[in-house]
Amino acid sequence: ATEIRLASRPHGVPTQDNFDIVDTEIPSPGAGQILVRNLFMSVDPAMRGRMSSAKSYAPPFEVGEVMSGGALGEVVESTVDGFKPGDHVLHQAGWRTHAVLDAARSVKVDASAAPLSTYLGVLGMPGLTAYAGLLVSAEFKPGDTVFVSGAAGAVGSLVGQLAKLKGAKRVIGSAGSAEKVRHLIDDLGFDAAFNYKDGPVTEQLAAAAPEGIDVYFDNVGGEHLEAAIASMNLHGRIAVCGMISVYNATEPTPAPRNLPQIIAKRLTIRGLLVIDHWSLREQFVTEVAPLVASGEIKYSETFVDGIRNAPEAFLGLLGGANTGKMLVRL
Ligand code: NDP
Repeated sequence: ATEIRLASRPHGVPTQDNFDIVDTEIPSPGAGQILVRNLFMSVDPAMRGRMSSAKSYAPPFEVGEVMSGGALGEVVESTVDGFKPGDHVLHQAGWRTHAVLDAARSVKVDASAAPLSTYLGVLGMPGLTAYAGLLVSAEFKPGDTVFVSGAAGAVGSLVGQLAKLKGAKRVIGSAGSAEKVRHLIDDLGFDAAFNYKDGPVTEQLAAAAPEGIDVYFDNVGGEHLEAAIASMNLHGRIAVCGMISVYNATEPTPAPRNLPQIIAKRLTIRGLLVIDHWSLREQFVTEVAPLVASGEIKYSETFVDGIRNAPEAFLGLLGGANTGKMLVRL
């Protein structure tokens, strides 16, 4: 078996040196446990936060210990009724090839209902984040003009497509390359998109949304948030999902300089954590899985192969190497 441990806490942008790749014995399951061989592992922006010691909603990873995260595996040994070899389970013991799990901490998934990798992406945690964030946190309603940043990523790509399907007047996305911008417009049906690296976000957004925006789904923070406030219409709503532009910052980052506009525009700005919305999971899957199966909702996945390349996958994710969900395939 092989596992990835946190070797040291990053200062700024993480590097390969922050990870240790360690070969170990394959563990044996005790009573009430299963042994799982992982097939797909998720790498997520939130893991950057957990590599730091700062207190947050999820506890920090400990230096010297195996990291963890969402993963999907196949049961190879079981001491538990209801779990048998060959079953597929979703669990939180990623960053390793083999995991011993309490059966109660793993969820069986149906490999015939959807491709296994989608349980970590469009039909999994990032998908639910998009769904709950748009419908609950941002209080989306038909006729809204919606702007989403990080639009070519796992969460953002679903936000934009859901908004379109649910009757948005106009959907605008930002992403970090010309190819991603093309993908948003040509493949995912966004009305407009821009590369935030091409020039000031405020100017590019204003040009893409001449009548302003009603909803901003924030995955990025920083300059994007200031631009969104500037383009917001009266009673606009901002769902703050992520702020990836500041995750590697070593100093406190500046706030939007136009916060007084919140008053005149009567804006609502609401933080969003997917863990508060698990109760919507069934509704989300019932609604979105058929749209994914029919191709009305498209999703992309970027695979990096091999456990030893998991750090590279994670570093790539932070740098924008992914379109759609970034996954490690074992
Ligand atoms: P993505 O698939 O969107 O991958 C991250 C993307 O962020 C990269 O592909 C890159 O794309 C973009 N990025 C990196 N640095 C910057 C930067 N400085 N400015 C702008 N964009 C940047 O990841 P997820 O879909 O998993 O997550 C998206 C966001 O949602 C993250 O902020 C994450 O923390 C948050 N999140 C929050 C949850 C919650 O419960 N609140 C749950 C899940 C995710 P590009 O090439 O476009 O730069």
